[in-house]
Formats: sequence, structure tokens, C-alpha cells
Amino acid sequence: MTSNNATSRKRPMFEALSSGSQGVAAKQVFYLSFVVLISGLLAISARPLVFSPEYLTSIGVLAITTIAATFIPWSRISVRWVALLPIINIGASGVLRDVFRDEAPAVALLAFLPAVWLAFFFLQTGTTIATIAVTITLSLPTMLRAFPDINSVLITRSMLIPLAVAQMCFLVALARNRALEERERTQAALEEKDALLRTTKTQEQLLINIIDTVDIGIVVIDCSGKIILENSAYQELGQFARPKRSDSTESGLIMRYPNTEIRIPDDQRPLHRAAEKETFKNQVIAYGGHSGQGRKISSSARQIIGLNGERTGAVVVFADVTSYYEAARRQYQFVAAVSHELRTPLTSIIGYLDLVTDSNDLSEEVSANLEIVVRNADQLLTIVEDILGTQTVKDSGIDLSRELTDLSELTRLACETMTPAAEEKQINVDLRIYDTPLISADPARMTQAVVNLLSNAIKYTPARGSVTVTVNSNHAHIEISVSDSGIGMTDEEQTNLFTEYYRTTTAKNHHIPGHGLGLSITRLIVLAHSGQISVRSSQGLGSTFTIQLPQS
Ligand code: ADP
Repeated sequence: MTSNNATSRKRPMFEALSSGSQGVAAKQVFYLSFVVLISGLLAISARPLVFSPEYLTSIGVLAITTIAATFIPWSRISVRWVALLPIINIGASGVLRDVFRDEAPAVALLAFLPAVWLAFFFLQTGTTIATIAVTITLSLPTMLRAFPDINSVLITRSMLIPLAVAQMCFLVALARNRALEERERTQAALEEKDALLRTTKTQEQLLINIIDTVDIGIVVIDCSGKIILENSAYQELGQFARPKRSDSTESGLIMRYPNTEIRIPDDQRPLHRAAEKETFKNQVIAYGGHSGQGRKISSSARQIIGLNGERTGAVVVFADVTSYYEAARRQYQFVAAVSHELRTPLTSIIGYLDLVTDSNDLSEEVSANLEIVVRNADQLLTIVEDILGTQTVKDSGIDLSRELTDLSELTRLACETMTPAAEEKQINVDLRIYDTPLISADPARMTQAVVNLLSNAIKYTPARGSVTVTVNSNHAHIEISVSDSGIGMTDEEQTNLFTEYYRTTTAKNHHIPGHGLGLSITRLIVLAHSGQISVRSSQGLGSTFTIQLPQS
């Protein structure tokens, strides 16, 4: 740990020095050129001095030092040796100052450059060495020459340059120290960022590998709905729905509602819904194919929430459930066949029961018991007929017998048939039915759909609750909505509502009987009319189901 720190502390200094060996040599060449230039200028009026042995020796030493500096491989030897160069330069500047002391005492300033060099690279140590070197080469000779007439004025005068050098070097070292610390901090932060980036890249790669190994299609979209990640399973599933020469977007795929020929509109497709901030589960779609063929793909979406609680996108998964669908279909066909066999004897049982209950010679107890038998037989017949009804729809799709239909009148009549059930529970049914234009629809099927919604509203609303039925139209649609003040459902429950056999936990907890088929048939009827059905609900507060049919 310590040795690591030491290395990292040395590194910037070494790098600066050894902008390699050339860096050191370049500094020395620069200094020599500077000295030669100053001497040349001085030689114009003080030529004899330039040929003095002291001058020639010091220039000679500087020249040899410069040549040596060019050849020494500085990056391979200890950095400390570099200090010799500025020290020699300070020594030479001392001699030059001595040579030109009467003509140009300011030549002493030549010592500043190597002193700064020392302080810059060796910081506090460099500052001390530079101050000592300048004192020995510039101040000491002055004092020795004056000896023994040394007084405080002389000492102060001769110490002025070393003190100025010390001060300047101190500031340079301080600034350099700060710069190095800052650089180290930046370096550390960069390294940390680098490490984080590497970790993120590794994790991303790992994630891509994992999601590519599963056979469930996975797509991640950003908050604008753009795909930012998709695995190969998603691509493969898409092949089932991709017509030749189609674009690769979601709307280029052939997606239908299962068991229908009806194409899913763009805004009802999984990626679009997820981009619209919807969370849903098990939206089953038929990919490609005709007449209820094609792969059955179940899609679910969940929104991705970032660290600050903001939505950053959504993840949508796609699973091929064709085999489950087929298995369920076979099982269902079997149940339907059994139900078919049951219906005839059951109808006969109910018929005979009616005859028996109409008789006047029954005791009160027998009558009460028979009433229970009748009720249960009726319930059994309803179940059998529901199963058979769904089977017909599933096998042959919904064949509509369209005619011009008054949906307001149709809804009013449907409400009338439900009045006894509502009265039994003292539920107040409020009708807000406005006249609407006639549209082409199948009255029997639409009655079935409205009655399903009404009977649910009454069934899932506790006694003395209320139900409101509204029929209205705008320029494009006719809207039928059924609201109740009943048990309602959670958001999660609403996402699965139109799936066959699905029953909410809320309904099961309230022990309300049902078998989860009515809504799926209702949805198929509405889709066959090119309409839409939606739900809004809050647990404990009630639900509103809305059917929207196009006017043309
Ligand atoms: P069933 O009512 O026979 O169970 P449906 O397909 O009509 O079948 O309804 C499916 C499920 O949706 C119900 O079991 C119930 O959990 C829930 N549901 C339907 N309508 C309502 C409603 N008005 N209020 C609360 N839950 C409802």
C-alpha cells in the first residue's frame, strides 16, 4: 500500500522530468542559449571580460553539462541525478556574476532559472537546495571579498538575492505541490470512473449473455418508447408475425386478438402500451396466421423506476404459450363435449322439476327442498350453457347477424330483464340513457354483452348498493358504460380481467360465485363489432366498464 502511494507520488515528477530524457536536455540547452545570449550582449562593450579564464571555464562547464544532458538516459537512472544540472547552472551563474560584477551585477539573476527548475521538480527539497546553492555561489564570495570589513548592511545586501530566490522557490514549490495534489485527485477519480465503467461493461455483457440464453423474448424501451435492448428470443418470436418485406417495428407485425381475425390496433400493442406507461400481465396475442391460427404469445410489461423515483422506461417480456393454449383448448373441448351431453338431461330434469313444484300437494318442507334443487339445477344449466357458448365462440369465432340497431333501446330492455335480480338485492339501478343513432350491430350479441356487464355489476355489489347505466354518443362512438358501487378490484387484477377463467382474488375473498367466462365473451363480441372495452376500478369503491362502438 505504502509503496504504491510512493510510486504514484513520484510518477508525476518523473513524467515531467522525463517528458523524457529529451525534456531534461531541452531545458539545459535552453539555459545555455540564454546565458550565451546575455554574454554576447555584454561582450559588445566588455569584450576583454569574455575572454577571461573564469568566463571561458564557466561557459565550458555549461557546454559540457549540456552535451552530457543530451546523452544521459534520464528515464533509466534515479531522478535525483537531474538535480545536478540546475546546481551546476547556479554555480556557473555565480562565476559569471563574479566576472561581470562591476559592469552588470544583475547577471546574478541567471541563478533564478535553475533555482525555479529545482523548486518545480523537487518541491521543498529543491527550494532548500536552490537557496543554499545561491547563497554559496552568490553571497559567500561577496562576503569573503569584503572580509574582514563585514557589517550588517553588507550581509543584508549580499543575502537579498538568496532570500528572493528562497521566496520565489517557495511559491513555485507550493503551487506545484497543489497542482500535483489536484492532478493526483483527478487521476484517482478517473481511475475510479474507469473501474466503474469496466464493472458496468462486464455486468452489461453478463446481462446480455443471460437474456440471450432464455427463450423468453425480452425488450427494454426508454421513456420515449425507443428500444434500447432486445434479446434474440424476441427477434425469433417476431419472425412468426413478420410478413415478407415488412418494416421491423412493432406496427409492421401481424398481431391479432386470439381466435379472431381482428388485428390489434397499434395503440393496443404491447410495446406501445408499455411506452404509454401501462403495466400489464398476460396480454395474449396471436402472431401471424389466419382463422385463429398463428402462435399465441403472452406479453407482460412493467415500468422501470430509476433511483430518484422517476420513470426511465419499461421492460416487456414475450412468452410463446401456443402449446399451453393448445392443451387448454383440448381440455376445454373435452369439458364442452361433456357439457353438451349434460345439457339435454339437465333441461329435462329442470322441466320435470317445474312440473313437480307446480303441484299443490307438496308439504312445506318438500317444497323448500325442491326449491334448493331447482336453484342448483338452474345454476348448473347456466354453467353448462356458458361453457358451450364460449366453445362456439372459440371454434367458429363470432358470426355477427348485423342489422340497424338502437343501442339505447337495447340497453333499456337489457336493464329491464335484470330488474328482478337488482330488486332482490335492493340495488338501485339508475338509467341515464340518451337517444343515440342507429348503428349496424348484432342485437342478440350486444344484448348478451350488456347483460353480462349488468349481471356482474349486480353480483359484485353488496345489498343496497347502486348501479348506473349510461348510453351516450359523440361524433365518432356510441358509449355504453355500467358503473357500480361494489367491491371493485386492484390495478393488478384489472390487467388480467379479460382472460378466460380469470377471477379476482377480491371476488373470491367475498365468496361470490362465478367461473370467469362472461367478460372474455363480452370482449370478443365487442371486438367483433370493431369496438373496445375498458375498465376503471378501485378496490372497495366500485367499477366502471365501458363499451365503445364506432358509429360507422
Ligand atoms: P364471473 O363473474 O362468472 O366470475 P366474468 O368473466 O364475468 O366471470 O368476470 C371475471 C371476473 O372479473 C370476476 O370473477 C370478478 O372477479 C371480476 N369482475 C367482473 N365484473 C366485476 C365487477 N363489476 N366488480 C368487481 N369485480 C368484477
